[in-house]
Amino acid sequence: MNRVDADLLHALGELGDALAIFDGDFLVALNAPMQALLPGEVGGLAEDWAQPLHGLASALVAPLGVRMRCGVSGEYVAQRVALDARHVLLRLDDERERLHHLQRQLDDREGLLFTSRSLTVSEMGSVLAHELNQPIGATANLLRGLKLRLARRHPDDTDELAALDKAVQQVTYASQIIGRVREYTQSRQPKTERLDLVELVHQSLGLLDWDLQREAVRLVLRLPLQPVPVQGDAVMLQQVLINLLRNALDALRLDRPAEPLIDVELIVDGARAELRVGDNGPGITPQTEARLFVPFSSTKPNGMGLGLSICRSLIEMHQGRLWFTRRDAGGCCFHFALPVMTAAATPPTQERTT
Ligand code: ADP
Repeated sequence: MNRVDADLLHALGELGDALAIFDGDFLVALNAPMQALLPGEVGGLAEDWAQPLHGLASALVAPLGVRMRCGVSGEYVAQRVALDARHVLLRLDDERERLHHLQRQLDDREGLLFTSRSLTVSEMGSVLAHELNQPIGATANLLRGLKLRLARRHPDDTDELAALDKAVQQVTYASQIIGRVREYTQSRQPKTERLDLVELVHQSLGLLDWDLQREAVRLVLRLPLQPVPVQGDAVMLQQVLINLLRNALDALRLDRPAEPLIDVELIVDGARAELRVGDNGPGITPQTEARLFVPFSSTKPNGMGLGLSICRSLIEMHQGRLWFTRRDAGGCCFHFALPVMTAAATPPTQERTT
């Protein structure tokens, strides 16, 4: 093992890969990450040294260049390459960190989907309660009026009067259920944590990175360099962002332009932060616009038509406002504005295109 090889091994070790060099059947060098994984003496038989790591001994006799899984659950990948006529370099990739990262991403997505479903159920409850309250109240009043008139004009129609009593009881019961749903949905108040909107944008985009890549959408981000502090509920605000981004992705998927694009911009104007999510999709027709925030109205084959009304109510819970505009270059843009926690001048913006 000459000095250059030792330096090379050290430099590669800086990258975090576990490396070892063999001369024929003998281990002649190993770097710190490999030493941490498989402490062993150089100069010994490679096969003995490899024993503690399940499957590594077989990987050492596999053809050069072949990637072999080892470790009890295949958490390492071993690969050997020839350095010269005598020396072979072994690299062990530790997949655990990558698998953990993947698991964390899946957990985050699962958590968001769960929240999304419970918010949707809650919002549906609130919309239905609101819509049903009126007709049920009116029916109860009509039945009571009818019973009073019947009792005055035909006091002997006891069966009919008893039936009307039962009907009033049933309707009263239905209205009590509605009342409980309303109480439950109204008690759902947003948290009031200090949040950074810039970070929230990054987190939301992180949850959609697969979708953005799969749809080959160009993402243009214009975000302030400094944090933009707002007070609110991170899950609810993330829900709004994800909804707006998903709608943009849906629009680009359903009617794909030559160069699909989503632009996300965050601007701070005094005590107000405005987030814009724009896309160059088909845009919104005046007919769709008229029913944009009406619950259960959707132009998508499997749409529920609740996303925007939920977004609007979540933003209003944060003392903010949500609206939409048409982009000059085609497509549309959804905006929401929230109060900033401290008065701040517009920070310089940073532009990034992916
Ligand atoms: P859903 O996504 O289930 O249809 P939404 O309330 O989120 O419910 O959206 C309602 C409608 O608004 C959509 O069906 C679509 O017609 C329209 N829409 C929302 N965002 C966009 C967008 N970015 N581009 C075009 N149309 C949109």
